[in-house]
Amino acid sequence: MRIAMIGTGYVGLVSGACFADFGHQVCCVDMDAGKIEGLQAGRMPIWEPGLEALVKANSEHGRLTFTTDLPSGVANAQAVFIAVGTPARRGDGHADLTFVFDAVRELAKVIKPGTVVVTKSTVPVGTGDEIERILKEEGVTGVSVASNPEFLREGAAIADFKHPDRIVVGAEDEHAREILREIYRPLFLNRAPILFTGRRTAELTKYAANAFLAVKISFINEIADLCEAVDADVQDVARGIGLDNRIGPKFLHAGPGYGGSCFPKDTLALLQTAEKFGVDQRIVRTTVGVNDDRKAAMVDRVERAIGSSVQGKRIGVLGLAFKPNTDDMRDAPSIPLINSLVERGAKVSAFDPVAREQAEKVFNNIEFAHDAYAAASGADALVIVTEWDEFRALDLDKIASSMGGKVLVDLRNVYDRQEAEEAGLTYFGVGRGRTV
Ligand code: NAD
Repeated sequence: MRIAMIGTGYVGLVSGACFADFGHQVCCVDMDAGKIEGLQAGRMPIWEPGLEALVKANSEHGRLTFTTDLPSGVANAQAVFIAVGTPARRGDGHADLTFVFDAVRELAKVIKPGTVVVTKSTVPVGTGDEIERILKEEGVTGVSVASNPEFLREGAAIADFKHPDRIVVGAEDEHAREILREIYRPLFLNRAPILFTGRRTAELTKYAANAFLAVKISFINEIADLCEAVDADVQDVARGIGLDNRIGPKFLHAGPGYGGSCFPKDTLALLQTAEKFGVDQRIVRTTVGVNDDRKAAMVDRVERAIGSSVQGKRIGVLGLAFKPNTDDMRDAPSIPLINSLVERGAKVSAFDPVAREQAEKVFNNIEFAHDAYAAASGADALVIVTEWDEFRALDLDKIASSMGGKVLVDLRNVYDRQEAEEAGLTYFGVGRGRTV
């Protein structure tokens, strides 16, 4: 199949490279000339495991090309995927669809009858209808509009794309279904279920999935608070409930609250849709509030662990990206924590294995350490914010001896209290008995 991918970010680039790897002919279009120049030279604009090799191999085979010129990029495509950003609009949290509609208007000038326009971006219910309306307004006929939301996770994006739990396709005509079935056919060998639904249903399915996961995270976070009050261990509670097939073990890790480029904005956008249609979504609304409060409260946790204000204290921070194996800083829990630490007069020395470049755009008032030990050196407290693998087996004796204070605040429950205490550290996890 001949595919065009508009938007070459975390989703567009991974999807484009994977489609090319299936054997399709893919042209990735982006308006960011720097990104495209870099990709043409083999430089990745994002950090994602395995991506560079995948892009290189498929570019060399001539199946994957990059351009800033949308008309030439989509010229012969049978399917044009839209994978541009849909950030939360400032103020009301509504999904900002400017990038999507701008792309559609540009596309309208060149698209040929028979092409299928597929929205891969996460977009509110009814966006497909609006795309159809815009195309009609621009005089386009004979084009199908489908929805194919993406469920990949950053940090495991290629594996997720190639071995998805399911593929959701929302389409209103058989031609669109046929084209998308053909595009995803290589995955049927892996028995990936493909679910055909109406377009509006597919659009809503993506939001429902992310909202449900956000609820699960917030649920275990609140149970963690209760564990601290009643002297129980949330890790054991999570295991005890997660082994129940009806619940499942995933997304039951207590921590500093969810962040990233999807859950915060998608939960808000779902609430906007609900409000627009006059249907209250109390569970999701509460989850958003619980998570915002949780992220804001992490600084108090650090102060309770130290036993005083952080004013004048040196705080080491391990992990800045919103999760391991990515450089994505969007809505990362590290941001409110570090901003509050600095506001309250702390000196912060932070280390992240790959997100430094992105983090430097966010923080101008902290030191960036070159490794975990340097971040800990001289610190009154060390806070683990992102559970990178390389933070899981640190030499705690070395850490403890280089620190000024001996406080380890483990917001990801990476360490056991006993091993931390044996190294001479005072340990504070999340939801693990009566602590902070
Ligand atoms: P991103 O910001 O990394 O990438 C978007 C890209 O689109 C940018 O490179 C931008 O330059 C480009 N772009 C914008 N308008 C354009 C236009 N008119 N023509 C050409 N290029 C244009 O975004 P992302 O993280 O890849 O997310 C894309 C969409 O996928 C969002 O709707 C997001 O919610 C959804 N999504 C993201 C993830 C994830 O893990 N990041 C997972 C599933 C779904």
